[in-house]
Amino acid sequence: MEPLQLTARAYLIEDDGRLKAWAEKHVRQDRDISWLLMNYCQSTEANSNGHIFSLQDLRTAKDTLLNKPLNMLHQNKYVVGSYVGAELIIPEGTTETAAAKPAFVEALAAFWKSDFPDEFQLVSKAHKEGTLFTSMECVPETLTCSNCNQTSPFKGRQHESYCDHLRDSPIAPKVLNQPHFSAGALQISAPDHPGRTGGIMMAPAEKWGWFNTFGAIGLSRK
Ligand SMILES: [Zn+2]
Repeated sequence: MEPLQLTARAYLIEDDGRLKAWAEKHVRQDRDISWLLMNYCQSTEANSNGHIFSLQDLRTAKDTLLNKPLNMLHQNKYVVGSYVGAELIIPEGTTETAAAKPAFVEALAAFWKSDFPDEFQLVSKAHKEGTLFTSMECVPETLTCSNCNQTSPFKGRQHESYCDHLRDSPIAPKVLNQPHFSAGALQISAPDHPGRTGGIMMAPAEKWGWFNTFGAIGLSRK
């Protein structure tokens, strides 16, 4: 099953005070590893792909990401690290029914830099230039259309069994129910890296705090 995807910025952890307490407990000094912190997905508000996660689902679904692969460019045999932690970050003033700002899942991944020194150079360069992105991979149980409220078993981005809205538009707003996170991908948009293949399109969606979120319409997983 082709997972749904969403792209956001990723950051190499440096001594800049960004690291939150939840992530700090997973991080250790290790010459083989660099740590990446990323905004993996957000709740409540649709991203530019129309994906919506309920806050309630994310409370439990975030843990499906642990020990899953961090790959390059959604190539699931090109694994360069793994996820070691994920936390639901709920902005002050946000409740189950009212969101001050969207809650989001922040994820921490180990990047295996000794095994992938060339990739690490690319990642470091992209981090410095602000062009390092991550993209989630998610398989929900069902989709609920935000226009007509019809719920359908998940059968890919578009399928004949869906309502007209979801069948006709891959970016129609929809709730991804009971999401299962299967991996995350690193994406580098530097022009000297040929990675942006397969028709990924990125568009600015929203900005809050030090995160930029982006939507990706994307690659299929092999
Ligand atoms: Zn519909």
